[in-house]
This record gives sequence, C-alpha cells and structure tokens, in this order.
Amino acid sequence: MKITRISAYRVDLPLHEGSYKWSGGKSVDVFDSTVVQIDTDEGVVGFGEVCPLGPFYLPAYGNGCRAGVRELGPHLLGEDPLQTNRLDRRMDAALKGHAYVKSGIDMACWDILGKATGQPVCVLLGGRYGDDFLLYRAISQESPEAMAGRVAGYRAEGYRRFQLKVGGDPDVDIDRIHAVAEKLQPGDRLIADANTGWLMHEAMRVVRGVRDVDVYIEQPCLSYDECLSIRRHTDHPFILDEVIDSVDDLLRGRADKAMDVVNIKISKFGGLTRAKQARDLCVELGIAMTLEDSWGGDIVTAAIAHLAHSTPPEFLFTATDFNSYVTVSNAAGAPRRVNGRMAASAAPGLGVTPLMEVLGKPLVVVE
Ligand code: MG
Repeated sequence: MKITRISAYRVDLPLHEGSYKWSGGKSVDVFDSTVVQIDTDEGVVGFGEVCPLGPFYLPAYGNGCRAGVRELGPHLLGEDPLQTNRLDRRMDAALKGHAYVKSGIDMACWDILGKATGQPVCVLLGGRYGDDFLLYRAISQESPEAMAGRVAGYRAEGYRRFQLKVGGDPDVDIDRIHAVAEKLQPGDRLIADANTGWLMHEAMRVVRGVRDVDVYIEQPCLSYDECLSIRRHTDHPFILDEVIDSVDDLLRGRADKAMDVVNIKISKFGGLTRAKQARDLCVELGIAMTLEDSWGGDIVTAAIAHLAHSTPPEFLFTATDFNSYVTVSNAAGAPRRVNGRMAASAAPGLGVTPLMEVLGKPLVVVE
C-alpha cells in the first residue's frame, strides 16, 4: 500500500462552558484543530487529528500543524502507511522535532492499518482490557467557590476524578484545593494540576498548605529539576506532564523516582506509535498513566479511547473525553462518555467517519 495524498483541514472547536482557563491566566474560547486525511493507492482512507491547547501551552500551534503537513507531506508520498514504525522513522529523517505535526499523520496511518486488517486500533495496540475505562474531568480555573460548585454537576455525569486547574496565586490555589476537597465523596480522586505555573517557593507553600488533603500534585513548576525539588519535599502522590515527552524523560524520571504517575499526551510524543512505546515502557516500569492529548475533538477522543482501552487497567490512572467539552462534532462513530466511563469502538481502525461538511475544504493538499 502506498500513500498517494495527504490533506489537512481546520475545524474550530468552541467550548460548552465558553472558555477553558488554566495557569498563568491562559485561556482558550475556541480550539483550532487540524484533521489529517491520508489517501492510499488501494482506496483505504485514514484520518487523524491534532489540536494544540492554544499556541502558548506546549511548543505547538494550529497553523503549525498545517504548515508541518505541507513540509513533511512530500517526503511521505509513496511510503507504506501500514508500516508505522518505519514511517515514524521516515518522518524523523525528513523533519527534526515537531512531534505534534507527526501525530495527526501517524494517527491516520493507524486508522488505515486497522481498516486494512479489519481490526480496531486498540487490538493492534496490544488488546482490549475490560468493557470500558475511567475518565477524569478537568475543572477550569475559577474562584475556589465556583470550582467547588462544579463538582456536583460533574459527578452527576459520572466523573469520579477531578483535575483542578491551579497554578495561580498560591493562597487562592490552597483555597481552591480545600474548597473542592470538601465536596469529595469516598472513592473520588482529586488532582491539582498547576501546569508549570508555580515558582518553587510558591509550590512549596501550596504543598504545605494542603498537607492533610488527599490530593495528587501535577506538574507544579516549569522545569524537570524544579518539579523534582518539590517532589522531594512532599509526600503527596506526584504526576509529571509537560516535561515528559520521550522515552528518555521516562527513564530519567524513573531513575530519580521523580513521579508516581505520568501524563502521556499522544501529540506530545508524536502519535500513537510513540505513545504506545511510552505506554508499554511505563507498564514494564510499574508507572501509572493519564492517557490523553493536549486537546481535540471526536477523532482525538477516539484515538485516546483506543490507547486507553489497550492499557492494563491497573496502570491507567485516568483518560479524557475531549469531545464532551466541545460543541462541534468532527466525526461520527466516536466514543461517548457513559456514566464517567468510555469504551473504544469495535469497528476497524479508529472507528470514526469524519463529517466532511464540518471539515470543509482542505487547507493543505499534498499529492
Ligand atoms: Mg497536566
């Protein structure tokens, strides 16, 4: 099989809640998502999606996804999309870095591999565990009272894991964590995700200020070394996210005992091929994972579902259903949250059918 055409579409994804706010005053009202379509000489067509969390979260931005497809695409025409490891190396040989650009292309190739073999992607990623898996709900940064007020509604939707967006003023963040913790019920889990937002002295004050709260601390500071310093001064369970985007990072984190859980975002690693490598390594190392992406619509949500559903449940800390946060659907057949849980499709490939009227005309076509 050979790749004959690569196209990229832009789909805007507004939020049900109007905006999504996190550390440092960062906020997004409408996410700029890129859907990648790969056509082949055998008529099998695959789709992927990559959606940065705005241009100021990780080194990734919407127009960069499309520019990257224009840059990388000519090097991939004629390549076999079924040979995902080989294609991953081809992409790295043609374009250094820019993992997020490669993610949508790699995801589309896994969709093709599934369709060509008649298998859902989760089976190709290693096998389906159980009937479904657990999701978390991110709570956008607001006042402590407003964030606490969100918990009951999210629990009514079935969520039992709540990820607070903190990383602001440390005194307010301490109040946020306490206010939400008071709303928890037995079995709930609370995560305080600072998204790199605290300096070390601020993080130290927060972990002291919530010493008696059962809360996970996620990515308190900007650098790995800063996070490691906080880690060594607290006994809260500890999650690393933004500083972990390679197997090297995982091995260093393991050697330093720098985290209890890691957050593996598909586009941060460069696609399902790389995310699977990282996931499998974490299983071998005994490290639990949050499996998700930076953001996305139905296609990203389907890819997350396949990655999460093919992960041994004891290692899957939680995952995300981004398509329930946004008002626009970009594909039919995507998994939907049911009572706080989700399942990967049993259809071949990712199991999604893009809504071409929503995608519109491609902004990039390489053929
Ligand atoms: Mg995070």
